[in-house]
Parts: sequence; structure tokens; C-alpha cells
Amino acid sequence: MRKVHFIFSFILLLFIACDTSKSESSSGSNVEKLMSSGKFQCPMKCEGEKSYDSAGACPDCRMELKKIK
Ligand SMILES: [Zn+2]
Repeated sequence: MRKVHFIFSFILLLFIACDTSKSESSSGSNVEKLMSSGKFQCPMKCEGEKSYDSAGACPDCRMELKKIK
């Protein structure tokens, strides 16, 4: 029974290690998003000339927003 507990805490430790590495990589991508800041617009122009500060999906047609200059 003790052995099982040891293995369980070892697996838990691995998960914690994985989580910290994941959060580090996600913060890195956040920096990338800030670096590639621009204006994004729906390719179908659902909302006319309305533009967004970050990439994503159009709230109206769910299409991927295109970067505009
Ligand atoms: Zn749209």
C-alpha cells in the first residue's frame, strides 16, 4: 500500500511539472500575440468596417478574422 502511495505522489509530481511547463509556454505565446498586434476584420465584413485588436473568430459568422493593414 505504501508503494502505491509513492507511485501516486510521483505521478502527481509529474503532472505539476507538466503544468508549470505548459503555463510557461502559454505566457510565451501571449508575448507573441502582443508582438503581432494589429487590426483584424471579418472577411465577410459582417460588422462593416469594425476591426478587432486581436485575432479570433467573428462573433457573427464564426469565420477566422483576417489581419488588415
Ligand atoms: Zn463575420
